[in-house]
Amino acid sequence: MKLKNIAIDGPAGAGKSTIARRVAAELNLIYVDTGAMYRAIALYMIRQNIRPEETAKVESVLPDVQVRIAYQDGEQQVFLGEENVSGLIRTPEISAGASAFATIGSVRRKLVAMQQELAKETAVVMDGRDIGTTVLPDAYLKVYLTASVEVRAKRRMAELAAKGQEVDLHAVEEDIRARDYQDMHREESPLRKADDAHEVDTSDLSIEEVTEAILALYQEGN
Ligand code: C5P
Repeated sequence: MKLKNIAIDGPAGAGKSTIARRVAAELNLIYVDTGAMYRAIALYMIRQNIRPEETAKVESVLPDVQVRIAYQDGEQQVFLGEENVSGLIRTPEISAGASAFATIGSVRRKLVAMQQELAKETAVVMDGRDIGTTVLPDAYLKVYLTASVEVRAKRRMAELAAKGQEVDLHAVEEDIRARDYQDMHREESPLRKADDAHEVDTSDLSIEEVTEAILALYQEGN
């Protein structure tokens, strides 16, 4: 039987992870956060003092990078080898690094293959930038979430503040604009709405409203 996977894409701060987690819980599906995998690779490279421009170096160490995801109490954890790095990858430095290393084709191919394997084993709600276009082109339901840069920056700030990280709103806005640009203009699988994705602007909607809208699309057979 074909699994009913849900693909959720969109720019940073559009609400993907919050919404995807809720939808997965409602439908009893596994939530896969693919951004965490790119973040783990960025952490590995930064620790090795490898810069994103050094493509040959990235490619030479890439086979040694063991990224793995697992679930603890229903929450996705990301591992580099045996080390759980889930808490270390949510910093502005790693956000920028993830976006830069994600432009490299070999990095994408490695992670896309892993993501496709995961979605073969069990039905998933997967979020990222290229899920509807590249990772799961045959997903049962595709959603493209957007929101204004201002709204997304405020959300990201609140998220960081909840973790005790103080950041300047202007700096967060600049980071989001830079990541949007890099994610939308890279050669390999740039961020874009799949032709058959449903676009939802979350700027003025609550988490519940967006979740309900996606559940309705899913139940309707989209
Ligand atoms: O979603 P998150 O902000 O954690 O993703 C970090 C970065 O990883 C993004 O800015 C993007 O460059 C990259 N990414 C990607 N493809 C995905 C998921 C994330 O290129 N499927």
